[in-house]
Amino acid sequence: MMAAGRAAQCGARVALLEKNHSLGQKLLLTGKGRCNITNAEYDQRKFIAQFGVQGKFLYPALHAFGVQDTIQFFEQRGLPTKLERGNRIFPVSDKAADVRQVLMSFLAETGVSIIKPAAVKNLIKTGRRIDKLEFSQTEMRAVSYIVCSGGLSYPATGSQGAGLRWAERLGHTLTTPEPALVPLIIEEPWVKELQGLSLKNVQISVYQANRKKDERFGEALFTHQGMSGPIILDMSKNIGKLLNGAVYLHIDLKPALEYSALDARLQRDLRENSSKLFKNSLHKLLPKKLIPVIIRLSGVDPGKKAGDITREERRRLLHLLKQLQLQVRGLAGFEKAIITAGGISLSEINPQTLRSKLIDNLYFAGEILDIDGPTGGYNLQLCWSTGYLAGENAAYGN
Ligand SMILES: Cc1cc2nc3c(=O)[nH]c(=O)nc-3n(C[C@H](O)[C@H](O)[C@H](O)COP(=O)(O)OP(=O)(O)OC[C@H]3O[C@@H](n4cnc5c(N)ncnc54)[C@H](O)[C@@H]3O)c2cc1C
Repeated sequence: MMAAGRAAQCGARVALLEKNHSLGQKLLLTGKGRCNITNAEYDQRKFIAQFGVQGKFLYPALHAFGVQDTIQFFEQRGLPTKLERGNRIFPVSDKAADVRQVLMSFLAETGVSIIKPAAVKNLIKTGRRIDKLEFSQTEMRAVSYIVCSGGLSYPATGSQGAGLRWAERLGHTLTTPEPALVPLIIEEPWVKELQGLSLKNVQISVYQANRKKDERFGEALFTHQGMSGPIILDMSKNIGKLLNGAVYLHIDLKPALEYSALDARLQRDLRENSSKLFKNSLHKLLPKKLIPVIIRLSGVDPGKKAGDITREERRRLLHLLKQLQLQVRGLAGFEKAIITAGGISLSEINPQTLRSKLIDNLYFAGEILDIDGPTGGYNLQLCWSTGYLAGENAAYGN
């Protein structure tokens, strides 16, 4: 939508082909329906560092349309934005549908023809140029073509890898697409009991063969199969690479307290509740849902009086609070992956124009590219920026 609107703004006659009955299906799901539009990291170098080694590809696109431009784009079209924790920018309305509406108005304002439902089947080339595209029972010819068909994640929204297949057929190299920012499937069956429980301000470390491989502080969430939430999603790519061996998570439920301070706190809570049952004495320390699980794992008799808890039993409790261990069985797959890592190899695309280096009238933008960022609005900014730059260059034929 950004690419089409920008191309039209630059004077091109533009048709946008979408296979669904409506545009931006995935956009509606973003940010749990609130759409984290971008990240207010205004230092371009720091912003780009979030994308790892591939990040530098984004310099020209961010220069053309950066974080500030995104915020302005939406605000000027009547959608005020707000800043939340972690520099995340959301619409004040908390509605992803409003973000989509702005883009729809942009398309109307710039005169883009929307053709839908129109599932593109193929792009046909002669030599170094695309001649036409085929869709439904018909075909269409254009001067330039921009492919923004997304990756493979959340396929029900429409992104099923079609563009990746065309690109490969046209001679482009693909970096194998992998689910990224994806929930984890956990071995321990008790996670199911905790489904929906969100843990704030926890520290989670990833271990393989007793060596710490990654560590994050922030928010995590239990799901019916395992774990999700920002810090889990952000570590999922690294965890995926470790799954050739056993991988464990250690959750520190009280990272602000050292062992000794937490022990003192626990002793105080148990003392204050000494005549109560142990199972009723942890409510100040832990979320309600977690208490029965921790008690069971500790092996302490829940019917015991809090005042009768032994030092050894306290030690076991402390260990669970500081190092609750879970084993990772696997990643949840493309159905549940927020984004797709991998995609069209960046070495075959000119970062200044987003034009294919193999086909003269073909451009790519968005998630189809072999680049991905962490949670926090980085991935949509990647789409706005590359879409804008691709639209502009496709219109001017650069
Ligand atoms: C649940 C969820 C929450 C997210 N939350 C955030 C967030 O808050 N902030 C953030 O920055 N990122 C978020 N993301 C990531 C972000 O949504 C994606 O990176 C972004 O939508 C990718 O945009 P895109 O245009 O490249 O691809 P898509 O949004 O996947 O759009 C591709 C479009 O191409 C169409 N298409 C595909 N094949 C064809 C074909 N053959 N013919 C015609 N049309 C076709 C599809 O139907 C689709 O409409 C989230 C993702 C998910 C799944």
